[in-house]
Amino acid sequence: MQVIDSVESMRAYRAGLDSSKMKIGFVATMGALHAGHISLIESAKKSNTHIIVSIFVNPTQFGANEDFGAYPRNLEKDIALCASNGVSALFTPQVNEIYEDDEISLNPPKNMGYILEGFDRPTHFAGVLQVVLKLLNIIKPHNAYFGKKDAQQLLILQTMARQLFLDVNIMPCEILRDSDNLALSSRNVYLSKADRAVALLIPKAIFEIKSLVDSGELEVARLESRARDILKHKDLHISYALCLDRGLKRIEKIIKNNSIFLIAAKVGKTRLIDNVWL
Ligand code: AMP
Repeated sequence: MQVIDSVESMRAYRAGLDSSKMKIGFVATMGALHAGHISLIESAKKSNTHIIVSIFVNPTQFGANEDFGAYPRNLEKDIALCASNGVSALFTPQVNEIYEDDEISLNPPKNMGYILEGFDRPTHFAGVLQVVLKLLNIIKPHNAYFGKKDAQQLLILQTMARQLFLDVNIMPCEILRDSDNLALSSRNVYLSKADRAVALLIPKAIFEIKSLVDSGELEVARLESRARDILKHKDLHISYALCLDRGLKRIEKIIKNNSIFLIAAKVGKTRLIDNVWL
């Protein structure tokens, strides 16, 4: 595996891969890799000859008071994980190679980018779009793999690829969970044992909503109310627990194969997100 830390070397590496004979799969990450990231790499390996992973903690998607400085970083371990999981090249650029002082901005659609994760973080998805477009342009993958874990991000990236006619397939990947059902996340390292016990109410609500919908309950008001009951705990602060369609619009009834139930909640200082595609 090659570890490449400059844009120029990454472009040179990519130029050496003949697109007529090889398929390039790309997994964008912010590092602190866990089995969820590895599952994206595994999906990519199924339909590509070369896998490129990026590790870049992207400053423009963090708000001023968020955990950019404290975001978990563990490059040595990440390099070893990528090498042992069949990654062909790992791209680890510095911030000053990716950004100039004054940048073109790219905003998400108004009806998708400023609700849910974008409500308290109105610059978040502009930062995500900006960095993902740059990475796609540098790496030029055939297929780019993103987790359903970040459902809103995935839907907005699919919208970008469609609206800007990008020459890449955005490939959605299933959420990987720990044995206690908590969705894997780099931020789970912040959780104490007691926090984690509270956090488990989130997958409990997710699984309950899935099973209610599977058994025929389609009324969103009833589903959301049941979820709020499960999530009621003095140490769990819910930002949202909503059933939406996949354009992120409110619905009264679940439309099978076109709906999502999404939760965001804080346990202590740790904000967790989870969802299920219905
Ligand atoms: P991050 O490093 O958190 O920016 O995540 C990089 C990619 O991994 C994103 O596409 C995430 O949606 C995906 N991802 C994160 N956690 C999981 C998980 N538990 N299961 C599947 N994909 C995940």
